[in-house]
Amino acid sequence: MAKYDYDLFVIGGGSGGVRAARMSAGYGARVALCEERYMGGTCVNVGCIPKKLLVYGAHYAEDFEEAAGFGWSVPKAKFDWKLLIANKDKEITRLNGIYRDLLENAGVRVLDGRGSLLDAHTVALGEERFTAEYILVATGGWPAVPDAHGSEHAITSNEAFFLEELPTRVLIVGGGYIAVEFAGIFRGLGCQVTQIYRGPLFMRGFDDDARRFLADEMRKKGVDLRYNTTGERIDKTGDGLRMTLNDGSTITADIILCATGRNPNTAGLGLEELGVKLNWRGGIVVDELYRSSAPSIYALGDVIDKVALTPVALAEGMAVAKTLFGGEPTEVDYGNIATTVFSQPPLGTVGLTEEAARTHHGEVTIYKSTFTALKHTLSGSGEKTLMKLIVDKRTDVVVGVHMVGPEAGEIIQGIAIALKCGATKAQFDATIGIHPTSAEEFVTMRTPEPEPAQAAAD
Ligand code: FAD
Ligand code: NDP
Repeated sequence: MAKYDYDLFVIGGGSGGVRAARMSAGYGARVALCEERYMGGTCVNVGCIPKKLLVYGAHYAEDFEEAAGFGWSVPKAKFDWKLLIANKDKEITRLNGIYRDLLENAGVRVLDGRGSLLDAHTVALGEERFTAEYILVATGGWPAVPDAHGSEHAITSNEAFFLEELPTRVLIVGGGYIAVEFAGIFRGLGCQVTQIYRGPLFMRGFDDDARRFLADEMRKKGVDLRYNTTGERIDKTGDGLRMTLNDGSTITADIILCATGRNPNTAGLGLEELGVKLNWRGGIVVDELYRSSAPSIYALGDVIDKVALTPVALAEGMAVAKTLFGGEPTEVDYGNIATTVFSQPPLGTVGLTEEAARTHHGEVTIYKSTFTALKHTLSGSGEKTLMKLIVDKRTDVVVGVHMVGPEAGEIIQGIAIALKCGATKAQFDATIGIHPTSAEEFVTMRTPEPEPAQAAAD
């Protein structure tokens, strides 16, 4: 008779939890998973997937306009927000079912409800109790809204996906992934969009050239992007929601979207009571094999507050399954993780920013190219593309690649393989391009940027 009901009990049916549960069951483990809200988690329900569908939806506005330069006369296009949301919801419901089927077909017992820990081997789910040799906490994150007068009137990305009507005036607070992605979505759909960011340049952590370039492109598309600006209070008025800014001026909007980061979802799980170590943001502290300070409790994904991206949660889920049931202790390699911000235009990146490369590698050579994509020679669009390579001068290894422009995500994914293989600039140069593409620019950049000291002297 087994000592526990299950070998593994997973709390949270998001990207990381589902992957860990399925793979563990595949290794023969007896696995149960509980999910309190929606199968597939943030990515499927209120994250990557619905977001990308809305990005596609918003981009049609430009596509219709640009078609004229290619000889098409497109009657004035009409947009139906309710239809887009209904179609998006249909697709999400289909995905919810697929996730549940994937688990059940793998032999995982799926339980609906909120799980919490009673002790290091027991999960409570309502009145029920389940014991397991290992418990995996994969409860993700939740939007953080700064406390201010009237902040209850603001929405977060969670609600933005389900608005009844398309707003006319949108005010977005924040300067990270979600803020710029929703600025692009709402602007593309014809809303007046104001985005306020508290610092002097948004997208902190990304390459400075890419940050500045994206800001210019977003402004060209009509986003009113304001730096060094914070919201002091929100008041509900007859004309909408009025935010008072730090300079005393006000902005009135139909919705105020707070995209000011996400916190690890650990409240009320019983972790502190068990002495599980949390960081200052409430993230579960784990070792390199995802084990928390309690040896039978593991954690992964957004709840460990490391890299909040779906492919990372998937890799961590795979690693936990291999470690616990595959007989192969597995760490995730966090080097050169590619990422794309699905702004309009998108910003794709892999490797180091110029600033970080100068710090870690000393002397670097920078290659940069700004150009108009071939399509836009006829489309009438003024959109530009930026590509940038950062090369370690000593080894010739390419240590950072950044792009702002159409299909940046699709292009950077391929480049990320080259960086993972340690490609040198000479190998980029020896690669024959695909003509005519924008991507070929990455293998044809030959003239380095002047050194900063030299540039300053010129
Ligand atoms: P989650 O996917 O959040 O899953 C956690 C699950 O646990 C949830 O379903 C939750 O309901 C459940 N849960 C929580 N507590 C309990 C409990 N006590 N009992 C039972 N169930 C519980 N990443 C990308 O890589 N690309 C993108 O384009 C992208 N876009 C995004 C857009 C938005 C608007 C947001 C918010 C995020 C986006 N992300 C994107 C990030 C990505 O969604 C997350 O990194 C990923 O979902 C993390 O997976 P996870 O398994 O850690 O957590
Ligand atoms: P981010 O951490 O990307 O951005 C948060 C933004 O809010 C930053 O500009 C931050 O400013 C600002 N901010 C934080 N606190 C305050 C405050 N109190 N007042 C005003 N501004 C504040 O978080 P997001 O919520 O945009 O996204 C969460 C995570 O989800 C991302 O980091 C990413 O990992 C993931 N994600 C991935 C996507 C993708 O892959 N395409 C898309 C969406 C989300 P500052 O920089 O000055 O701290």
